[in-house]
Amino acid sequence: MKVVRQPAVSTLLDAMNQPMPRNLLGLDLQELTTLVDSAGEPAYRARQIFHALYAERVLSLDQASNLPKDFRSTMADSGVSVGSPAIQSRFVSSDGTVRYLMQLWDAETIETVWMPEGDEGERGDGSEAGEEPEGCAHGWRRATICVSSQVGCAVNCQFCLTALLGVRRNLNAGEIVGQVISVLRDQKVLPPNDRINLVFMGMGEPFLNFENFIKAVRLLVEGVGIPESRMTVSTAGIVPRIYDLAAEPVRPKLAISLNAPNDELRTQIMPLNKKWNLEKLLNAAREFPLRNRERLTFEYVLLGEINDSDRHARELVELVRGIKAKVNLIALNPGPGIEFKTPNESRVLEFQKILINAGVPAYVRRPRGRDIYAACGQLKRTIELAS
Ligand code: SAH
Repeated sequence: MKVVRQPAVSTLLDAMNQPMPRNLLGLDLQELTTLVDSAGEPAYRARQIFHALYAERVLSLDQASNLPKDFRSTMADSGVSVGSPAIQSRFVSSDGTVRYLMQLWDAETIETVWMPEGDEGERGDGSEAGEEPEGCAHGWRRATICVSSQVGCAVNCQFCLTALLGVRRNLNAGEIVGQVISVLRDQKVLPPNDRINLVFMGMGEPFLNFENFIKAVRLLVEGVGIPESRMTVSTAGIVPRIYDLAAEPVRPKLAISLNAPNDELRTQIMPLNKKWNLEKLLNAAREFPLRNRERLTFEYVLLGEINDSDRHARELVELVRGIKAKVNLIALNPGPGIEFKTPNESRVLEFQKILINAGVPAYVRRPRGRDIYAACGQLKRTIELAS
């Protein structure tokens, strides 16, 4: 007769080392190994759970049919579960973009955006998309998920709607990976066979939640099967974390939100520039070790009559000279409470032309999902928008 070893429930919970709920999603192989070990199960069970969570993307412990039933019930009895953020609502744009409002275990909400065609930030050199697929079964070619890293944001960029929320809390690694899993499931996308790009450019500043962000990246690469070459993280300019990212063995490509060509202007629109000014930021950019065929991205939000003149474009050219980088231009996406103007298209194209003529690769990001408040800088939970 098979002897069923019952683990001490408290040991099982201690091993998970996280507050309620005891969610397996977000644990890495090492943590899962500690967990199964404390339950008296062999180490290969950890690999089975890892596979069920990230490769099969099971919805519940029940679905993890590669695990013995009694082990599953021991875990369930200990309050252990599997859960990715719940899709509370979907807003579908006329351009196909979907903005998801997701609810977390503590009723906080975040937003995650599905862009079936990307936003052309990746156009040209593929630096945000990796290789262009030949075309795929779903009929989309550059599908991109824009992932949030925090509930709200602490960086007070004057042109961004998320900033108006302030920061409420960090997302843990499971909540970051879970957003991707929920969208993949909803869109019926199956990495690694289906290609998908990830941009960590949703709500929050990923570099103010660095440990959870980088852990999520590892789980997405090793577990879900999305290559790091198809991921880009954007920072408002938390300089010490740029050096930390450079030292990571598994890391996305880097985008830096520059948004102004001189300190005076940048401090006005991005107060964090007082702490990490352009000299510090650009030094970190210059020292960032690029991989084969990799380039940095500088994002530049064009604010009408603030930072969009020919003079600003020429100043920008001087600033980024010598750095292997491209510039992504984003015309301001408007929103309530944002005092800036969106420059017209001819101004955007003139600005782009000055950069290109000076040898700086520059692309104009198409706004995606502006009509449903899904575009860059517009992620502010619908609850607040409605009020
Ligand atoms: N916190 C990170 C990632 C989120 S913002 C960062 O700052 O980079 C993603 C991009 O959207 C940034 O480049 C930011 O400058 C841009 N952005 C913010 N508000 C915007 C708005 N209202 N219109 C257009 N782009 C905006």
